[in-house]
Amino acid sequence: MAGPETVTTNSGHRGLDLAETLIFELDSPGRCGVDLEQAPDLPNRLGGLERTAPIGLPGLSEPQVIRHFVRLSRNNFAIDAGLYPLGSCTMKHNPRLNEKMARLPGFADLHPMQPVETVQGALELIDSLAEWLITLTGMPAVAMSPAAGAHGELCGLMTIRAALEAKGDAREVVLVPTSAHGTNPATAAICGYRIEQIPADERGRVDVAALKEKLGPRVAAIMLTNPNTCGLFENQIIEIAEAVHGVGAYFYCDGANFNAIMGKVRPGDLGIDCMHLNLHKTFSTPHGGGGPGSGPVVLAEALAPFAPLPMVVRDGDGLTLVEQKSEDLGTAGSFGRLKGFHGQMGMFVRALAFILSHGADGLRQASEDAVLNANYILARLQDLFSLSFPGPCMHEALFDDGFLKDTGVSTLDFAKAMIDEGFHPMTMYFPLVVSGAMLMEPTESESKASLDQFIASMRHLGQRALAGDSEFFAGAPYLAPYRRLDETQAARKPVLRWQPQAKEAAE
Ligand SMILES: *Cc1c(COP(=O)(O)O)cnc(C)c1O
Repeated sequence: MAGPETVTTNSGHRGLDLAETLIFELDSPGRCGVDLEQAPDLPNRLGGLERTAPIGLPGLSEPQVIRHFVRLSRNNFAIDAGLYPLGSCTMKHNPRLNEKMARLPGFADLHPMQPVETVQGALELIDSLAEWLITLTGMPAVAMSPAAGAHGELCGLMTIRAALEAKGDAREVVLVPTSAHGTNPATAAICGYRIEQIPADERGRVDVAALKEKLGPRVAAIMLTNPNTCGLFENQIIEIAEAVHGVGAYFYCDGANFNAIMGKVRPGDLGIDCMHLNLHKTFSTPHGGGGPGSGPVVLAEALAPFAPLPMVVRDGDGLTLVEQKSEDLGTAGSFGRLKGFHGQMGMFVRALAFILSHGADGLRQASEDAVLNANYILARLQDLFSLSFPGPCMHEALFDDGFLKDTGVSTLDFAKAMIDEGFHPMTMYFPLVVSGAMLMEPTESESKASLDQFIASMRHLGQRALAGDSEFFAGAPYLAPYRRLDETQAARKPVLRWQPQAKEAAE
């Protein structure tokens, strides 16, 4: 009997998974989805700048446009479709209340160039969110403008550089642990620092002895993630902070994993000088195609005067945006402007809605549930999968490919088979400190029932791999809109035109 992967159809559609061509191939010149009035005959003030040829947009009816995008969207996977355990990415549910708030006309129709007296409510919102981030982290100041985690890192290191230069003590090295996210060394390099790596110890944490050996007057900062990307809390963090401060360096913390500790630990109490928060991870604003991101950076007292402009400052009864360096307003040391305007307003509205709808107790509960869910996965899989480091873990469970040794199945093959089971694969081959990493982060959004379903599929696949069915894994996924893409060429030479899978199977 023919299996689904060999069935061909006359239409090219596969069941209700409908084939779609490029929007430009649907073009019928002159077709239009709206009935526009004839433009009135007005005097032409463009002085020769007016367009003389059509701009080449495809002509489509409204149903064609709707179908085109709906069909494409059905070839995609999203947190709204199912469990998305992409470790380190915190793919949590995006509450619809946040979306509703962000669409209120008072927020949605703002323009960043409006006179400041007409946007007092927006500034008040930015200020309230800043106050929450300050309270949650125990840090005295926050720069709101960075547009993503990596942009927050850039903001942090530029702030650190400005602070060191103000002391006449420009330094050249940034220390980065081997488990760090790739953005950490990339940021340090862009800021002109030389990167030196610190190895992990056998517990999956920073090797503190190796770190101390590297510390000295050349070191500007360390960039450490806590909980780290192995899903483990760096429990020597206070000792690390003291050693770093002992040589006059700054302690940058990559706070992308704040979802594990929100309401439980204040980074300010751990000796951290600077940390970005990913509103699009911990605070539930959409990401992974649904962005934009937002990465505010909390700052210690020593770094606050060097933060980027503009800053929202309370001025009498109102709020004002300080756009210039000013001795009077305490912004003379600022490293300057980081971004066009004041940050991602739509994301601020969503993040504050998330915070206010949870309350302080609810935020703590979210962290506890995220950690509980990850430990549930860890506990239910650890007899079959290879646990990289002994648990318990924080918000994500790290396994490696040890259990697949001699099966002929790789981490990649395993991930492809998960797609057929209806799950987005976990993060693969990151962190680099273990071989063939499988990093699973369920977040607090998942119910026990959905975790049980995921675990059952993972166990089924694990057993199938151990039973030596490597041929099955080598061919997976069988049921996805697309089979295996060439991982390198897919990024470098993307084939955007629809390729009927039925045709591919028939050839
Ligand atoms: C997601 C992440 C980043 C980068 O954040 P972006 O918003 O994607 O730039 C940095 N570090 C860690 C540990 C992360 O998980």
